Amino acid sequence: MKKRDFNEGLLGFLDASVTPFHATQNITAMLKNAGFIELREQEKWQLEASKKYFVTRNDSSVIAFTYPKNNTSYTMVGAHTDSPNLKLKPNPVIKEHGVVKFGVESYGGLLLNPWFDRDLSLAGRVSYLRESGEIASSLINVQKKIAIIPSLAIHLDDKANKERTVNKQTDICPIISTNEDFDFDTFLRWQLENHGVSDVAEIYSHELSFYDKEKASYVGLRDDFIASARLDNLLSCYVALLAICSIDASKPMLFVASDHEEVGSESVSGAAGSFLESVLRRMFEDYEAYVQMTRSSMMISADNAHAIHPNYPGKHDAKHAPYINKGVVIKVNANQRYASNSETIARFMQVAQELGEPLQHFVTRSDMGCGSTIGPITATRIGIDTIDVGLPTYAMHSIRETAGSDDAYSLYKILVGMSL
Ligand code: ZN
Repeated sequence: MKKRDFNEGLLGFLDASVTPFHATQNITAMLKNAGFIELREQEKWQLEASKKYFVTRNDSSVIAFTYPKNNTSYTMVGAHTDSPNLKLKPNPVIKEHGVVKFGVESYGGLLLNPWFDRDLSLAGRVSYLRESGEIASSLINVQKKIAIIPSLAIHLDDKANKERTVNKQTDICPIISTNEDFDFDTFLRWQLENHGVSDVAEIYSHELSFYDKEKASYVGLRDDFIASARLDNLLSCYVALLAICSIDASKPMLFVASDHEEVGSESVSGAAGSFLESVLRRMFEDYEAYVQMTRSSMMISADNAHAIHPNYPGKHDAKHAPYINKGVVIKVNANQRYASNSETIARFMQVAQELGEPLQHFVTRSDMGCGSTIGPITATRIGIDTIDVGLPTYAMHSIRETAGSDDAYSLYKILVGMSL
């Protein structure tokens, strides 16, 4: 696959994957196209050698794996499906000052300022009672630009550029209409109907998030950059997905994309939960074989890395400051916020060097805190040797992040190389 085709596919994936549910739906559709067979956790598994499988949990996390005859040493890639956003509260409707607005909670550590003055839409999962008496859930994506969070004009706050802060309860409620007859239940029923669901007796609950309607795109004189929402971490999801789709079932490879990384991974579908361990245990019925596999496999935890910001260079350690389009970043932290160690780094570097792919190194400044990833969580939970890598990114956790148009393809080639 050529880099341009790879990146075109990436732009489409980013636009279509507006929530972890939609990301999972798109990932599973691509896995099916590539010959992966769906398993359900609730049913008995009878795995056959030389086939490829996938399984989802909570519609928002997915694990795909090949199942070769000799499967003692897996190359695993871990990423996450969720991104920081504004999430609708259970009773969201607020009618005041001539408008209808929605009450929201912030999900994850999002940069709030970039959410102002954007054309927003809404998507997620709705759970309801069918007229037949059964409970069902459906994904919806409103698609239309239905909301905006207007800034307060500078004339009404002359300290706006120096001192303005954002209150999460009062300042970021998206406004959706001037029609004060608006009814939320009717709105949800109408959305479900648009998605082919017309037998709704009662709507019980929803998990809906706002997203930016601006599409992912190239930016820069030579299309140097890719700007989009949710690059953290759909970028890694896409790279890992294409890697596992392009190898055949004779190579042991596993891809896990988990929800809830941005809020600490502790959930039924998060990396601190039982999903991966439970799948691995079922792949290796015999505990002895399971332990042998975990101790001879390697996890590549792929998440974005902070590129040195050209206007704020002092925020990086000068010797560990990744550039955009200069290659995949290996992330190290003495306090184990990243799981890389010298041996996993060596294994990764050997493959990258053989392929001629450049690498960079990131260590956070010693006087600053360090983010973390699913890497240390998975290493702890499963006991698998792990490396943390990532693609250089500006504006992480903004509603629009920026990465390079060369780096994702480079990671893809290394991941394929690791599994051969
Ligand atoms: Zn991330």
